[in-house]
Amino acid sequence: MKIIKKDSDEAATYRTNISGWVDSHGYFYGEDEEAARRAGSTHSECSNCFVIIEKSDTLCDDCKERSEIERYNKREKVEWYRDDVLYSDKYNVYFFSIRDIITYANDSVSEFDLYSLDDLRLILCEKVFLRNIEIDLWWGELDEDVSDDVIPILQDALDDFNTDLNEIDTKLWEPGAYRVSFYDRIDTDRVNND
Ligand SMILES: [Zn+2]
Repeated sequence: MKIIKKDSDEAATYRTNISGWVDSHGYFYGEDEEAARRAGSTHSECSNCFVIIEKSDTLCDDCKERSEIERYNKREKVEWYRDDVLYSDKYNVYFFSIRDIITYANDSVSEFDLYSLDDLRLILCEKVFLRNIEIDLWWGELDEDVSDDVIPILQDALDDFNTDLNEIDTKLWEPGAYRVSFYDRIDTDRVNND
């Protein structure tokens, strides 16, 4: 990076006869009125209902909530088993048992926010597996002359290793694609049904 000290002629110049847009912080934007107005403003309007909101947002809280509910409702709904792990799309919380869900609703959510446990917007979780190792890891490292012999051996070893890897219970979960209703529950464990 080029060094410019404060006393250098390049650090700043005295200009006359310039015109253009300057934002509320004093930055000059030339003819770009839109950029100057955007930079100099503190608030904007909700793009849906036009109420005044923080500049960093595009929707107000009500419109954001409505669009999140819409997106949630577009998910396919499935039944769930008693031992499934669930995630609340609304409150960003994981539940590992039915008791967890009821306790959370009683202790952490006000009655005003929760008419039914389905207001938690529950999503069925999927187990997170460790990333498998692909043969590309050694791309460019194997000599082309020997790779025809080595690759099948390496691939066999990787297949075995990845099979073992996929059997490791990471105890990690992530929200999957499906939504569930708290009340559409099958009262047996999923492990007995697979
Ligand atoms: Zn709005």
